[in-house]
Amino acid sequence: MTLVLDQDLELEKIFVSGYEKVIKVTNREVGLKAIIAIHSTVMGPALGGIRIYPYATYEAALNDVLRLSKGMTYKSAITESGWGGGKSVIIADPKKTKTKEMLYAFGQAVDRLQGEYICAEDVGCTPDDVHEISKATPYVVGLPHAKSSGNPSPFTAWGTYRGIQSVLKKMTGSDSLENRTIAIQGLGSVGHELAKLLFWGGARLVVSDIDSAKCRSIAEFTGAKIVPTVDILSEECDVLAPCAMGGVINEQTIPHVNCKAIAGCANNQLLKDSDADELVAKGILYAPDFVINAGGLINVTHELDIDEYKAVAARSKVHRLYDQLMVIYEIAEQNRFSTHRAALSLADYRLKYRIGKRIEPPHFHHAGK
Ligand code: NAD
Repeated sequence: MTLVLDQDLELEKIFVSGYEKVIKVTNREVGLKAIIAIHSTVMGPALGGIRIYPYATYEAALNDVLRLSKGMTYKSAITESGWGGGKSVIIADPKKTKTKEMLYAFGQAVDRLQGEYICAEDVGCTPDDVHEISKATPYVVGLPHAKSSGNPSPFTAWGTYRGIQSVLKKMTGSDSLENRTIAIQGLGSVGHELAKLLFWGGARLVVSDIDSAKCRSIAEFTGAKIVPTVDILSEECDVLAPCAMGGVINEQTIPHVNCKAIAGCANNQLLKDSDADELVAKGILYAPDFVINAGGLINVTHELDIDEYKAVAARSKVHRLYDQLMVIYEIAEQNRFSTHRAALSLADYRLKYRIGKRIEPPHFHHAGK
């Protein structure tokens, strides 16, 4: 690795209303262009992944990091995880232009924030990349080590499964998956795990992925029906589980959606907040994404406890996402507004009164830096 000098690193604060700190990070020597957004540290240090993506413009990268870091504040608040909301983006192609030097320089930027922001893997950023970053800073989670919380996806999948049970319970009085039809969009790390859980629960599956090999492998095991990617959202089903990308529920797709409930793991499923009202108008129950998909965050939180990480502790908290969602449906019903608004209101309340605030600082058990 060529020498990465700290003095080549530039950190420029950008003012964004409603955000505590947004920093443009540049190191011209190694071609690093990144943004770290800290939406809020009201509940604790800001925690959030590093997305590495070849954004077409700087504005697109900024929009993404702002949206994602705010989402982390809400996800942590609703689950009382004791974290603030943060996220970072590195503007690079993870397959072509990402380098070790760039990652190390990014780690130096994270280090300068002295623990205000704790980073982890995300789209385009692998555990190996996080390992490179950890050579420059201890403020990372999700490194492969003996006390690591490991892969978050099975926890996210279990939380999503519990979320699907919660919508069934609300709609029918029973949370049994037996003979329910669940349509899954995306069979990646979380989606394929979820498909297997649903299979064991007795569900009938309809699946779709741009990677047809993933569909075939799940269909072989579960007997799932495979449909083209353009058809999955309009498949007739009890529950639609978006498990691929964000923004799939919008004014163009809602008229064609043919399900009774939407409950999946994808982040930012609604293109706009008002899309939640359209779902209400159509009589579709929606499990708010930042609640149902919080299993991964809950799991990683346990890695930073003073005690050694134990999957069993994380499991029991992820399991209770069901109860959390049932409360949200009740708030929505009583106030005659959407479940999305109910979840935001509940998170705002917890933020206002600091319910779940972290007092104990995080403990880093890895040997980074
Ligand atoms: P992933 O990249 O492993 O999987 C995404 C899958 O979606 C891939 O198989 C991809 O081929 C497929 N896909 C992409 N476009 C598609 C389309 N148009 N139609 C059908 N399939 C398509 O990602 P993941 O880790 O499984 O995460 C899935 C979603 O859940 C993402 O939105 C992510 O942000 C969110 N999420 C993940 C976690 C986690 O623990 N991994 C936690 C919280 C939220």
